[in-house]
Amino acid sequence: MLDPVLQHWLEANAEALDQGRCDPQQVLGQLAAAKVLGVGVDPRQGGSGASVADAVETVASVASYSLAAAFVFWGQRAFIEYLLHSPNSALRERLLPSLLSGELAGATGLSNAMKFLSGIESLQVSATARGEQGWALNGRLHWVTNLRKGGFVVAAAIDRAEGGAPFVVAIPDGIAGVQRSPDLQLMGLQSSNTAALDFDQVALGRDWLLHEDARQFLPAVRPAFLGLQCGMAIGLARRALQEAQGHLQGVRSVLAQTLEAQRELLADVVSELKAGLLDGRFLGNPASLFKVRISLAEIVGEALQLELQASGGKAYLSEYGAGFARRWRESAFVPIVTPSLVQLRAELQRQARAA
Ligand SMILES: Cc1cc2nc3c(=O)[nH]c(=O)nc-3n(C[C@H](O)[C@H](O)[C@H](O)COP(=O)(O)OP(=O)(O)OC[C@H]3O[C@@H](n4cnc5c(N)ncnc54)[C@H](O)[C@@H]3O)c2cc1C
Repeated sequence: MLDPVLQHWLEANAEALDQGRCDPQQVLGQLAAAKVLGVGVDPRQGGSGASVADAVETVASVASYSLAAAFVFWGQRAFIEYLLHSPNSALRERLLPSLLSGELAGATGLSNAMKFLSGIESLQVSATARGEQGWALNGRLHWVTNLRKGGFVVAAAIDRAEGGAPFVVAIPDGIAGVQRSPDLQLMGLQSSNTAALDFDQVALGRDWLLHEDARQFLPAVRPAFLGLQCGMAIGLARRALQEAQGHLQGVRSVLAQTLEAQRELLADVVSELKAGLLDGRFLGNPASLFKVRISLAEIVGEALQLELQASGGKAYLSEYGAGFARRWRESAFVPIVTPSLVQLRAELQRQARAA
């Protein structure tokens, strides 16, 4: 159950968050004040306990009001997860408190890395060693969310110019050579601090290392990365189905059976997701998690169709249909966020051929 103050704020600002009329600097503060950032983090690490499955539910609750806020939440929470999995305990101790309190924004520049892991794309940031001290970084991340102007740290996977295993670092804002672009202009999710990042001879010390080997680290964090991302689809689908239910009078009751079937399907997929996150099966069998992600994206599409059909022409009127129109735009994000449905289908096809 979300804090009622956060619920109210999200409900009042969902439209503005989507269209860029809400100050994006406010989002993290609101989430932190409602204590959602520490769900699924051990109290000994400063969190509020519970499991990663509870964190998924919390992302879903936020997404049922605003996908823009849920995506900021995801970026922050995924970064926290990287620190929890990192062997660099000094970095964890240094960053975790300010990430949990929302003072520092954590951004996830790992789309490129996840594509790299599947052999789709080469890494776009490379490093030249500077003796024992660290590296000089060069390259670009084309899309990163939660690059808060008041300070951020971004996770990225880095190719070694000299060869050897790519590694994963946290790169802080404010060091020489890190350049944030103006916000990208988007069809929705505009108040999400989404921009590109350029790195020009950025001198980064070894104390910012998250993991020496991206090929070990990324598969280990992938279940939480993807599972938390699934929370966004779950929340959006639940809300669209709930809205559809509210319109099922008269002739529109013909949709009731389809609606119930979608609701049941959603509940089954959510149970499968949570069970897999809790028993660790996705670590050894990522394909089963990819299938969950694909199913959830399809359910979001179906749920939005049902909301549209159940509302009828009313959904098309700005006066009544603003919430639906926003959810429709929000839903366009679900299939394309990395790993996109195209990437997942290609990966499943590749695995099937190899089997
Ligand atoms: C609102 C939003 C927020 C995002 N936030 C993050 C984030 O926090 N972290 C993260 O790692 N990724 C983020 N992404 C990136 C996302 O996860 C995908 O990597 C991205 O949507 C491209 O995926 P793709 O593989 O379909 O595109 P690709 O296959 O890479 O590209 C498809 C086509 O689109 C073109 N294209 C792609 N991106 C751009 C661009 N920026 N400008 C011009 N042309 C482009 C390509 O050249 C190609 O022709 C975000 C994307 C969106 C829409």
